[in-house]
Amino acid sequence: MIAYQSIQRKRDGGVLTPEEVTELFTSYAEGRLPDYQMSAFLMAVYFQGLAPTELATLVDVMVRSGEVLDLSDLPGIKVDKHSTGGVGDKVSLVLAPLVAALGVPVPMMCGRGLGHTGGTVDKLEAIPGFRTDLSLTEFRSLLERNGAVLMSQTEEIAPLDRRLYALRDVTATVESIPLIASSIMSKKVAEGVDALVLDIKVGGGAFIPELDRGLELARTMIGIGEAYGREVVALVTAMDRPLGYAVGNALEVEEAVFTLQGEGPADLREVTLALAAEMLVLGGVARDRAEARVAAAAALGDGRALEKMRAIIEAQGGNPAVLDDPAILPHAPVWHVVEAGRSGYITRIDTRRVGEIAVELGAGRAVLGAAIDHAVGLQITVKPGDEVVAGDALATVYARTKGAALRAAAALSDAIAIEAEPGPVFPLIGRRVTSAGVEVYHHPG
Ligand code: URA
Repeated sequence: MIAYQSIQRKRDGGVLTPEEVTELFTSYAEGRLPDYQMSAFLMAVYFQGLAPTELATLVDVMVRSGEVLDLSDLPGIKVDKHSTGGVGDKVSLVLAPLVAALGVPVPMMCGRGLGHTGGTVDKLEAIPGFRTDLSLTEFRSLLERNGAVLMSQTEEIAPLDRRLYALRDVTATVESIPLIASSIMSKKVAEGVDALVLDIKVGGGAFIPELDRGLELARTMIGIGEAYGREVVALVTAMDRPLGYAVGNALEVEEAVFTLQGEGPADLREVTLALAAEMLVLGGVARDRAEARVAAAAALGDGRALEKMRAIIEAQGGNPAVLDDPAILPHAPVWHVVEAGRSGYITRIDTRRVGEIAVELGAGRAVLGAAIDHAVGLQITVKPGDEVVAGDALATVYARTKGAALRAAAALSDAIAIEAEPGPVFPLIGRRVTSAGVEVYHHPG
């Protein structure tokens, strides 16, 4: 009955007391509240939002649903990065070793692919032997040893989020600002980080595509961080196109390796350096972002980030030879080039659709727990605003079978619009958000 009344009140725009929020979510965590009632409540939240007191209570219940790590005995200011989810977003694979190479410990707990977006754990598992299912003891000791560790979310950390996320994924309730904010921040608080940099994606491939709502998401997460004494800085970055060229697990690892070797696509490098600069300042090893950026660019250029990645891969059971020869990564047997059907400008890349096409090829999961194919995916070598001539290569599809390649190629042609005039393009890094407010992003230095 209490659950019924809480659902009804939220549906009608009311505000629950902290006791009611605690009771509702605790009974769900303990298996006393059925999925169908929690689904109804989540849908009510999707439409009505959560008041600040309700959000604070939800985060608290989620954090306390599992273990809260205390990393304070390890030296250094621990800083993590979290992205709200994107297509082709392999930043963590470059950023974690880069920032650790410059002396800031990076305890990174990563996710698997969600819906049309990819996940760092799936990408890492494309590296032969790489283990992400570490125990919390291994997590601590590898962080101490290497200065960075990348592991998958465990049952011990915010287990309520796992259950809620699985339910949201199948009830069309992922795209809610308070639900995304509480999901991400509860995990980060429980993980024991001192500070956090957020990569808030906006554009068609993001869960929250609109800039104004992306900014609201950033402010909401910064507010939660403040309540727990964690400094949070957010960059708002473009997801109206995949980041870099590659979409698909092994292909993304390969691109991350090129970037660690000082090459790689310009947009991937730019977003990585911008996030690294924020992390290095928060971690107390650089005075300002300009100094931090110079240091980060140097560590990418001279191989220090690459060598740190070697240590991380070795420590987590992977084959570090992928850093010297990415050809040993799994490769799809069939590839097919997608050509421009006409001349003009790329005006739109339907990035959500691109993510879905990658999932359809097997790079992601249609249902929770399904196996994925690390080898398949796409390489989209054009960006919005580029001028193309009919017959130019737009993309390459990497597939298991010829049929799958042709289906993906046809879908991809529809997802990339070419028109006579160029259209508006999102800035790659549009805004910087801190507890002091929102500013238009300027390249530091
Ligand atoms: N990533 C998360 O961890 N949670 C969400 O709700 C969305 C993206």
